[in-house]
Amino acid sequence: MGQRQPSTIDAGPFLKGSLSFFPLFFLFLFLFFFVFLVHVVSVVLHLTGPNLYARGFKDTEGIKRPAGSAGPPGIPAERKYLIGGNWKCNGTYGENMDRVTMFNDAGPIPANVEVVLCCPDVHLPLLGSSLRTDIAVGGQNCGVGAGFGAYTGETSSLHLTDLGCTWVIIGHSERRDGFGMAGETVELCAAKTKAAIDNGLSVMFAIGEHKEERESGVTMDVCAKQLAPLAKILTAEDWAKVAIAYEPVWAIGTGLTATPAMAQETHKDIREWVSANVSPDVAAAVRIQYGGSMKGANAIELLAQPDIDGGLIGGASLKADFFNVITGIPMLESHPLANKKLRGWL
Ligand code: PEP
Repeated sequence: MGQRQPSTIDAGPFLKGSLSFFPLFFLFLFLFFFVFLVHVVSVVLHLTGPNLYARGFKDTEGIKRPAGSAGPPGIPAERKYLIGGNWKCNGTYGENMDRVTMFNDAGPIPANVEVVLCCPDVHLPLLGSSLRTDIAVGGQNCGVGAGFGAYTGETSSLHLTDLGCTWVIIGHSERRDGFGMAGETVELCAAKTKAAIDNGLSVMFAIGEHKEERESGVTMDVCAKQLAPLAKILTAEDWAKVAIAYEPVWAIGTGLTATPAMAQETHKDIREWVSANVSPDVAAAVRIQYGGSMKGANAIELLAQPDIDGGLIGGASLKADFFNVITGIPMLESHPLANKKLRGWL
């Protein structure tokens, strides 16, 4: 019988276990806080960035928006020329990416021309991130509502500005007529324009007559009817953000173009209508673009007209020829870009 033996608990494995447990525990704790911190920082950046591009979106695809190259100005005009491209519902992602590359490499844009490309909504991030910065990006339509909400399938002007758009086309004849859907009324087009301007966009407001209307001599009546609701709701300040795109419907996508004299006559009538129904100041400042099968081959003559301040171009804006329109503004003969052979895009 002896003494009680001290207990012989073997502390070795326990100590060994605790020695490997603590580093693992601290490593786990460190990783947990690291992941938490990364989440907090990304949420803060996401919420505070004013738009996608400010959040660094433009660099995530490895594509950057190049600056483009400014050319010398053409002959100074009363109003800065505005050339808009309307890609309509065209192009796969890859095809439109190729178009961006083509325009990025297309050479200088004269200094007194403002250029904007309106692509399908789904490709706006592509253009916003990779198109040269001397070409603005725009939508082809936007909602009439003031902002976001339960409007299934709609694009708000807030979506457009969030993606870096500065322009939108409203009232294109294809939307006014509808393509298998109800068309847009003159009141709706005006209300959309007001909403877009209130949300920070500039608007190319398209108007124009059908073939039968021109033939029966009511071209200006039709244009006036389309402009009247706009004149009712826009302020003088709003008008600074509007360009009127006169697009005879019979000339859109048909290869038929109004002759320069015909187009000038209607542009002059439109300017006079604006002078009488809005104000002489707005009439003197507002840019009136011509649209309807405009291309490099006819742009020079059209753009030489005193009341034609630019163009809205559909088919040709999908091709390199778009740059022939851009450089088709009046130029001194001595100007290198005035010489078609030197342009290199024809
Ligand atoms: C247009 O879509 O606005 C347009 C003018 O088209 P196109 O140049 O193809 O006639």
